[in-house]
Amino acid sequence: MSIISVLNPKGGSGKTTISTNLARSLHELGHSVLIVDSDPQGSARDWHAASEDNPIELVALDRPNNVKTLASMAANYDHVVIDGAAKLEDMIAACIKVSDFVLIPVQPSPYDIWAASDLVEFIKARQEVTDGSPRAGFVVSRIVEGTRLGSDVRTALDDYALPVCETTITQRQVYPQTASEGLTVFDADNAKARAETTALSNEILSMLA
Ligand code: ADP
Ligand code: MG
Repeated sequence: MSIISVLNPKGGSGKTTISTNLARSLHELGHSVLIVDSDPQGSARDWHAASEDNPIELVALDRPNNVKTLASMAANYDHVVIDGAAKLEDMIAACIKVSDFVLIPVQPSPYDIWAASDLVEFIKARQEVTDGSPRAGFVVSRIVEGTRLGSDVRTALDDYALPVCETTITQRQVYPQTASEGLTVFDADNAKARAETTALSNEILSMLA
């Protein structure tokens, strides 16, 4: 059993998109998965409600205190994927505490990467008192197809001394299109989107191993 939180206080970094697609991808790989919507905005809840037969179960937890109950809930699943809240607040702190892995989606801009500094500090402070738990890593999200990561982005990421997933998530219409129907890229005819999502899942699974 593992708890994976997808966190970044910055809105629009792709947390909900990655959480829902990652969860579905883990399901496709044969794992049992629960999605936890920890964001009061409830985007993952809206996504879940938009389809009638979503193969992934979802629960909403709005209070940091409820997050503590996750460990026992998680025992029934191979993986729990927590879609993180905006703002660095008690909710994010509670998610970090229960997580085995924190995935930090960032858009490929130095401003977005610099904005993750408080979150990274928070995670590192937690790692110090727990001997390294949760592990954490970045995934660059919403990258324009055919572009490479600029050296400014690489340098900004390097400064954090956290792993950066080799997989990047591309800006593709299929992500919002499928989300609007409560679906994921696994319900669409887009092999590249499925491949990058599966590659991300496999990278996270190997980091958890
Ligand atoms: P967050 O949960 O971090 O606020 P979202 O996943 O809701 O971020 O993404 C913010 C907006 O960007 C949404 O409208 C979403 O559909 C869109 N978006 C996110 N990731 C992608 C992507 N890879 N390609 C295209 N649009 C995306
Ligand atoms: Mg969101």
